[in-house]
Amino acid sequence: MQSTPQSSLEARQEAFKRFQEDLQKIRKRMSKVRFKIAVLSGKGGVGKSTVTANLAAAFAMKGYQVGILDADIHGPTIPKLLGLQGARLEVGPPGIFPVKGPLGMRIVSVGFLLPSEEVPVVWRGPLKTAAIRQFLGDVVWGSLDFLLIDLPPGTGDEPLSIAQFIPGMSGAIIVTIPSEVSQAVVKKAVIFAHELKVPVIGILENMSGFICPNCGAKIDIFKTGGGEKIARELNVPFLGKIPLDPRIVEDSDAGIPFVVKHPDSSAAKAFMDIVAKVEDFLLQGGKKEKP
Ligand code: ADP
Repeated sequence: MQSTPQSSLEARQEAFKRFQEDLQKIRKRMSKVRFKIAVLSGKGGVGKSTVTANLAAAFAMKGYQVGILDADIHGPTIPKLLGLQGARLEVGPPGIFPVKGPLGMRIVSVGFLLPSEEVPVVWRGPLKTAAIRQFLGDVVWGSLDFLLIDLPPGTGDEPLSIAQFIPGMSGAIIVTIPSEVSQAVVKKAVIFAHELKVPVIGILENMSGFICPNCGAKIDIFKTGGGEKIARELNVPFLGKIPLDPRIVEDSDAGIPFVVKHPDSSAAKAFMDIVAKVEDFLLQGGKKEKP
């Protein structure tokens, strides 16, 4: 059937109306979440999801109510990192209930909608973001102190449109690694946060130096300090360095947050220090009392 100019205008008006309705629903659901933190990276593989899971667990260890939204459509790894593979979102009359994770964390992931980890998400761009938008409007988060949002890597349309559905973002954490090549993408990620009109909480340098599992000494395999340098250049806070630690991979594979399993390690201490800095940043923003 051929669409007339009139019918295509009506279709667009209808789509716009649905978009506005979805945004309103998301806004209402999110109104009980005190701080919404986007976790970004310029590219994949820098440890963005690992950092999201461990920062979330570190907040939860401090007694906060924490949620994670895994919006990384093509690589939803949060379920695996928290030992929740195969879990499914429950749907009831008020909406979609997050899966209960370790330390009472509430988790929502595209991964919970897929039949198995091996199945790739093959939706096309606009369909994908529309699905995410509808999906978000239906999630019953309840009251949360912190919601960490693991966005898809990169600074293209997809992470931008997903981030734009989430109103009132409190700030963004940008994850990078120490090599020179990643510095250009960090700049892009900072510009991306500015485009989103989200304050940059800071840059975090992951895989920064190697902790020897035998003697505990720190060896700088790659050059470290790149994250700190770029933070200075861009005039945004530097949150700290997380060392490379083979136990992070082991714990991730076992589905246990590293900060829970190895709280006395230097990497876990680095995560706790970063969480304290994030708290300070958010509480200074005119919100003095702790959540
Ligand atoms: P991204 O979300 O950026 O794609 P991931 O969080 O999936 O990256 O991490 C990529 C790989 O690097 C995973 O195997 C993870 O266990 C490992 N990894 C991340 N951070 C560290 C670290 N600090 N030390 C050791 N391995 C790490």
